[in-house]
Amino acid sequence: MSLPPVVQPARRTLRRPAELVAAGLVPPSRQEEIAAVAERFAVAITPEMAALIEPGDAADPIARQFVPSGAELAVAPEEREDPIGDRRLSPVKGIVHRYPDRVLLKPSHACPVYCRFCFRREQVGPGGDSLSAAELDAALDYIRARPEIWEVIVTGGDPFLLSPRRLGALTRALDAIPHVAVIRFHTRVPVVEPGRVSAALVRALAAEKAVYVAIHANHPRELAEGARTACRRLAGAGIPLLGQSVLLKGVNDDAATLTALFRGLVAMRVKPYYLHHPDLARGTAGFRPSLAQGHALMRALRGRVSGLCQPTYVLDLPGGAGKVPVGPCYARPGDGEEWSVEDPSGARHPYPPRADHR
Ligand SMILES: *Cc1c(COP(=O)(O)O)cnc(C)c1O
Repeated sequence: MSLPPVVQPARRTLRRPAELVAAGLVPPSRQEEIAAVAERFAVAITPEMAALIEPGDAADPIARQFVPSGAELAVAPEEREDPIGDRRLSPVKGIVHRYPDRVLLKPSHACPVYCRFCFRREQVGPGGDSLSAAELDAALDYIRARPEIWEVIVTGGDPFLLSPRRLGALTRALDAIPHVAVIRFHTRVPVVEPGRVSAALVRALAAEKAVYVAIHANHPRELAEGARTACRRLAGAGIPLLGQSVLLKGVNDDAATLTALFRGLVAMRVKPYYLHHPDLARGTAGFRPSLAQGHALMRALRGRVSGLCQPTYVLDLPGGAGKVPVGPCYARPGDGEEWSVEDPSGARHPYPPRADHR
């Protein structure tokens, strides 16, 4: 029996191809291939995520999300540099305004990890340009000047990479805008680098207005002890937690994995909000299931798994037309006023019920 190679657990974020090889995440024979990918798309794997990966198993669901692969260099004809048309909808730097009542605010483009399926993969990166103080002021002025903006969604990049001091200043600035009722942060930090969720970071989120935190997680193994502790801290501060996941081929595209993921989140007080169909980002074809597969999976959960564990399955339409639920739909119009509604086992029922059913 040959012993597996001794691999030192990573103590800091892995970024360079040679570091991935040294950590046993990429075979030496593939270092050059990975280096070519790393030239185009940012790479980062935190020690917490590296520790979850089975070394040498390219099909490992955590490895698939973070370890680059040569397949990313193949661009499918339908793929785009700006898959959901954010650029066209950006009136000032750092703001995306697609819907009348809410805007995205992106203070920085850095993330703790770079997901191989990211829809902003050509905008994000470590050197990624964060807003200068003047640019952030201009973005805040845009929000201040528009009373119809009811909610500000702080995203990026990952806003929880900001220092607690900067995060606190940003939260207070948004809290002070009278018409902003809700401040929502989207982050992967509580899962991929949970140590950052310090008491100081949680204090930085304190506001009079409602603060929500949406946490991105895609596989039940990501919900390790550190993530549970981070979520307990946030929930303990009275912050409602939402879950955001992406349906990914080879990561979570089976009913058992999705069930474990959504149950795991709910048990951590994180309400699954959206299951995203992957966007048409360049080099990500290997991650995209079909909408039919998405439907089959959503149907497998409905009726068998608690309603708390059912996110809305959504597609962000290519080009910027918006995010919409893409089913499955259980009701369809019948004759006249009658509808035909499918139950969780697949049987159809007229609604309202006919006289003989009453
Ligand atoms: C996804 C997104 C939002 C948030 O949409 P919700 O349905 O409220 O979660 C807002 N603005 C833009 C531009 C988005 O892409």
